[in-house]
Amino acid sequence: MTINKVVVIGAGTMGSGIAGQVANAGIEVWLLDLPGADKPNALSERGLERLRNPDQPGLMSKQAESFIHLGNTRDDFDQLADCDWVAEAVVERLDIKKDLYHRLDQVCRPHTIISSNTSTIPIRLLVEDMPESFRKRFAITHFFNPVRFMRLLELVHGIDTDPAIIDTLADFCEQQLGKGVVPCLDTPGFLGNRVGVFAIQCALHTAFDLGLSPMEADALFGRPMGIPKTGVFGLYDLIGIDLMSDVVQSLVKILPQDDAFHQFSAKLPLMTRMIENGQTGNKMGQGFYRQNNEGKREVLNLNDGTYQAASRLDLPIAKNAELNGVKSLLDDDSVHGRFAWSVLSQTLCYAASLIPEVGENPLAIDDAMKLGYNWIKGPFEMLDEIGIDYFLMRLNRDQRSAPPFLAEAANSSFYRSQPGQLQTRLIGQRWAPVNRPKGIIRFSEMRQTLKPENDCAVASWFDLDGIALVEFHSKANALDGDSMAILDDASNAVENKGLRGLIVHNDAQHFSCGVNLQLVREFFRREDMEGLDQFLNHFQNTAHAMANARFPVVAAPVGLSIGGGFEVVLHAKQVICHANSTMGLVESMVGLVPSGGGCKETLYRWVDNLQCGDDISAACWKAFMNLGYGKTASSPIIAKDLAMLRENDHYLMNRDRLLALSMHAIDEPSGQKIFSRPPLSMPGKTLFNDMTEWLVSAEKQGALMPHDVVVGTELARIVTGGEIEAGTQWSERDLYDAERRSFLKLVASEATRARIDSMLDDGLTIRN
Ligand code: NAD
Repeated sequence: MTINKVVVIGAGTMGSGIAGQVANAGIEVWLLDLPGADKPNALSERGLERLRNPDQPGLMSKQAESFIHLGNTRDDFDQLADCDWVAEAVVERLDIKKDLYHRLDQVCRPHTIISSNTSTIPIRLLVEDMPESFRKRFAITHFFNPVRFMRLLELVHGIDTDPAIIDTLADFCEQQLGKGVVPCLDTPGFLGNRVGVFAIQCALHTAFDLGLSPMEADALFGRPMGIPKTGVFGLYDLIGIDLMSDVVQSLVKILPQDDAFHQFSAKLPLMTRMIENGQTGNKMGQGFYRQNNEGKREVLNLNDGTYQAASRLDLPIAKNAELNGVKSLLDDDSVHGRFAWSVLSQTLCYAASLIPEVGENPLAIDDAMKLGYNWIKGPFEMLDEIGIDYFLMRLNRDQRSAPPFLAEAANSSFYRSQPGQLQTRLIGQRWAPVNRPKGIIRFSEMRQTLKPENDCAVASWFDLDGIALVEFHSKANALDGDSMAILDDASNAVENKGLRGLIVHNDAQHFSCGVNLQLVREFFRREDMEGLDQFLNHFQNTAHAMANARFPVVAAPVGLSIGGGFEVVLHAKQVICHANSTMGLVESMVGLVPSGGGCKETLYRWVDNLQCGDDISAACWKAFMNLGYGKTASSPIIAKDLAMLRENDHYLMNRDRLLALSMHAIDEPSGQKIFSRPPLSMPGKTLFNDMTEWLVSAEKQGALMPHDVVVGTELARIVTGGEIEAGTQWSERDLYDAERRSFLKLVASEATRARIDSMLDDGLTIRN
């Protein structure tokens, strides 16, 4: 069965998100909510408004919006008659959901699929008084918020659900909506929230017990553990302290009496007071953190409830863990080490204790935590990293017993790599292959069964059956000379060993956040401008070689590809990216200009895009604006509009399918775009002067800061040719040289150095 028309009922946070993602997939969707008193569609309109939030755009493009039809459950119920899937996302109330199902049963065709987005209500209760014909086509599709960006979909079947319905939903949600579908049994909280909320509550209560401040707890229960940096208190603020309390209370109601969760579910008096005072988190402007009137960040003192300046906290143990892995946290006997051990040991034991209740495969729990909570590793992967025997020894030292599934793994691991296959442990000392649906390859898994052909601390390259794959793997995948050397080496190997092509891809959250600024700072602190110029030259040559290679080259980015990371992408012959990719050249924000061929390529792409022949002034203006404002495109569709991607570049809704398609594309060279880069007839000084005048007047009007004008002038100099006569021919090489000259000039200025220091030391962009 194919799904061509969807109706989402309930246009709140989740319903609007689901409708948005269906529309992103180019499928007709009706979004219905209760009728409003004055405006019948007021609630669904509000849902659509939510999707338009520029800080977190639920829609990939303006075109996507045209697939959404707004309505209400009084006037538009007949839309249900011919739809293929009804996704119910109304409030978490069993009586309301049940009433709705009776109405749906009257209207929907017999084969229409119906699913609920419930977080906590078991499927057997939802359909207990529905006829079998309804129960057969009913499932739970549990999406995570925000729907466009969170990869997890927990798919729960009831005892009567027809397996064909589950297959249809799994295929649709995986391929069209791009979700990582994790099949779940009908157990309380399913997988993600069962483990995730336990971990949050355990961290919260342990921080209170040990007297840690929110900042200390977040500095530990965050990046060092491979958990998003919002940590625990930051996450409470993000979700809403009141909403999180409701989630905890609903889990209290549905979990068995003897579940370990209950020891961390008590309401903390301070938090009850915070909810009463309206300090419920980001939505109210204050929670555990807030910005004061001067825009400075403050943190709540958990002892007396006052706010204090949140000055930067550098915990050496946290830094050490980021460098040396999570185990180093546990070896530390300070209060911070005790916090880490307490939270991690209880969370990992809890996850292990759920097997086999929630299913026999630890892979599903690991997937749920990675895709639904953005953990870098799942609990069982973390246990493997820490070492099972070390972990068991520590439990033993604390006189705690290990759950049976964990005890069984003594002297072993939860995952093992066999030739060409990754396997996962099952209960009873059995192993099963890690099998993904056809076309899904996660390189993070595949790499465990391969040996790199060449590697260093920041990048590696692998031979995938005759295709070279380059993987960046530094922190945030920042690029340096070693990353470029690996890219060079892989390119040379393709040429010399007769491999079929080159793919640049990784399975991290972000493809690359650009050149390592720390490296740039080291160069300028040493005043080593020659060394910096050599580094830039090497970067440019590597990118140029990719673009002009005699073999196919594909870049397959996910997440952010910005700055130098995007310059690598720009020089691939074809880009096959994830639908949620964000890309752009943002160097101006730190007072620099793209100098890895980014300015050059932006100019050429506008020239190609506008078909401007000899009159390239329009293209120069476009390039100048893109680069000057450091524009980023929050989807590949927007990137095409901004000439950042070309017509042969593709995107896929599911990032797990990028690698298979990229490998296919290597063997389909017709998709490869030749880089035709003839010399350009540069507009020269007249246009350069126009642009500098524009900058000065924008500064006068208060739209630009003084150093923006300096940076803008350099960008203008590059894209126009600067003081040269109109019509002077510039080759790619001239543009590369111009980029480097401007970069070196800017890096010598105090204002650029201040921007870089601020970014590196405080994570802030400053305007100066
Ligand atoms: P919400 O309160 O933001 O939205 C619920 C919407 O349902 C409201 O707009 C309300 O007007 C509408 N509604 C209520 N009764 C209705 C009816 N009879 N017919 C049509 N519309 C009706 O809630 P939400 O956060 O979007 O949650 C919706 C569902 O998704 C719940 O079951 C919840 O447990 C689940 N869920 C929520 C999250 C989350 O993070 N918010 C995550 C996963 C699952």
